[in-house]
Amino acid sequence: MTIYNFSAGPAVLPKEVLQQAQAELPDWHGSGMSVMEMSHRGKEYMGIHAQAIADLRELMGIPANYKVLFLQGGAHLQFSMIPLNLLCGKDSADYVDTGEWSKKAIGEAKKFGGVNVVADNNDSKCTYVPAFADWKCDPSAAYLHYTPNETIGGVEFGWVPNTGDVPLVADMSSNILSRSYDVSKFGLIYAGAQKNIGPAGVTLVIVREDLLGQVAANTPTMLDYKIHADGDSMYNTPPTYGIYIAGLVFQWLRKNGGIAAMEQTNIAKAKLLYGAIDASNGFYHCPVSQADRSRMNVPFTLKDSALDADFLKQADARGLLQLKGHRSVGGMRASIYNAMPLAGVQALVDFMGEFARQRG
Ligand SMILES: *Cc1c(COP(=O)(O)O)cnc(C)c1O
Repeated sequence: MTIYNFSAGPAVLPKEVLQQAQAELPDWHGSGMSVMEMSHRGKEYMGIHAQAIADLRELMGIPANYKVLFLQGGAHLQFSMIPLNLLCGKDSADYVDTGEWSKKAIGEAKKFGGVNVVADNNDSKCTYVPAFADWKCDPSAAYLHYTPNETIGGVEFGWVPNTGDVPLVADMSSNILSRSYDVSKFGLIYAGAQKNIGPAGVTLVIVREDLLGQVAANTPTMLDYKIHADGDSMYNTPPTYGIYIAGLVFQWLRKNGGIAAMEQTNIAKAKLLYGAIDASNGFYHCPVSQADRSRMNVPFTLKDSALDADFLKQADARGLLQLKGHRSVGGMRASIYNAMPLAGVQALVDFMGEFARQRG
């Protein structure tokens, strides 16, 4: 039976990447060592590290005046590192509140300075993106933070806010590499690896150079971006094996047409799944407004939540795994990241159709 894993994260990785990692596990390229066993200062690992950064730069078209950092601590630590590094003595930063991950970032930023919530969608249980025209931005804000894809609520921005001279900061944990972005519009992009990049334990930060070096006094050394940038993410021991797997994922993306090709497949996958939900005569329901539906995380409910347990049991028996929704939303959530093939979404849609006919 083919297994399709719809986990929100840690999430599915490309089969080819896992197979390559398996083949190279005990002896990387005739070195006689596993990547796990290599010194991070040795020429073998340094090569892997540099190649991963070069491939990511190529994939995302990252301009030369941006640093690529591989850090630890997850997106959660970025919620603190961002205000510590980017407030730069200013009173406050702007935040957009579109769901649970925005709220976590806001809560943490409040420990370090003023937070001005410029827009929210709390009137709707976080099911849409607030129109830019209604945002109450502060032109003297240190930066503006938003969450382009809310992994839990399934709300995704189809556009990039234009904040002028105010640096734009984005938590792309769950949609990085899934669609094209013009990196030059951002001051800083960050993402935990475990959704679209690789294994948990690596945090990617892409930051414009001029934002470095103005860290708050008493900031721990490990939380200063400039320290990591100057040390090429090797100030301390980086998460070497996770970076190696991320590098294999970047090569897999490059071999398969890059982000543009991935975006087309992601559009097709999302269309297929939302189409099935909308055509189910109310048996399935997605609460997110049409224009702001995530291509990566698709939350949906069944018309009667008493059917949830049976839906999950039958899905499991078919090899359609980890469809249970987040505890705060309930129902189901299908995460359909880059590594989820169209065939996986088709298998889910086929099952959903049968289940609705059986129990509808
Ligand atoms: C998963 C996720 C996080 C949390 O990531 P950690 O690596 O667990 O800290 C933060 N933001 C978004 C948008 C996420 O999807």
